[in-house]
Amino acid sequence: MIAIHAGNTVPECDQAWPKVAAQRPEACPICHMAGHMIVHGRYPRQKPLEATPEPPQPVKVRRWLCTACKHTTSMLPDIFHRYRQYTWAVIGAALVRRFVLGQTWSQIQAELSQMPADVAPAPSVDSLRRWCQAYAGYAQAWLKTMLAVLATVWPQLAQLNAHGVQAASPPQQLMPATATLASWLSPARGALAATTVADLRAVWRWGWNQGLAAQIQ
Ligand SMILES: [Zn+2]
Repeated sequence: MIAIHAGNTVPECDQAWPKVAAQRPEACPICHMAGHMIVHGRYPRQKPLEATPEPPQPVKVRRWLCTACKHTTSMLPDIFHRYRQYTWAVIGAALVRRFVLGQTWSQIQAELSQMPADVAPAPSVDSLRRWCQAYAGYAQAWLKTMLAVLATVWPQLAQLNAHGVQAASPPQQLMPATATLASWLSPARGALAATTVADLRAVWRWGWNQGLAAQIQ
C-alpha cells in the first residue's frame, strides 16, 4: 500500500479523484522496480466513518499492478487509517484527548460525538479503548525508531536532553516526538502549523512508506 495525501476530508478526497487517478507511482513498493506499474482498477473504501449522522460516503481508491512482481498495491488517501473504519480526524483527536489532555472515555466521547441526542453517541467507548490500546502498544517501538532518526537531524529535541525532562510514559513521549518528526518531514520546514492529528497522520505515512526519502523529495 502507498499512502497519499489527497485532501483533509472525505469530500476533498472525492474532489481530488481525477488527480489521484492520474498519479502513477514511479516504482513498485514491493519489489522497487521502476516503470512497471499499470492501472488495476479501483475499489470503494466503503465506510469512512466520522462522528456525524451523515451516511458514510464511499471514497474511490486507485489500485495498481506491478508487471514485474505481479503484486497489486493501492493508493490509500491518508485521511484513512489502514485497518480502521473511522477517519484519522476522529482517531487522532481521541488519542490526543486521552494521552495529552488526560480525558476520560466518556469525556472524549461527549466531545467527539456529533450525533443527535436520540441515537447512540459515536464513536463507541469500545472503539476509543481499542484505538488507545493499539497506539499505546506500539508507542515503545515507534518512539525508539523515531528518536533514532531524529537524533541525527534534530539535535535540539527535548526528548534527547537528559537534563530537565520529566519522565513520561512512551505514549505521552511519542506525541511531541511525532510533532517534531512531522515538522521535519514537512516541505516547508519551520513554517509548519500542523495540528497534532496531521502529525499522527504523517507518522503513519512515514511508517507505511518505510522511509523518509519518499516524504521529503
Ligand atoms: Zn513489483
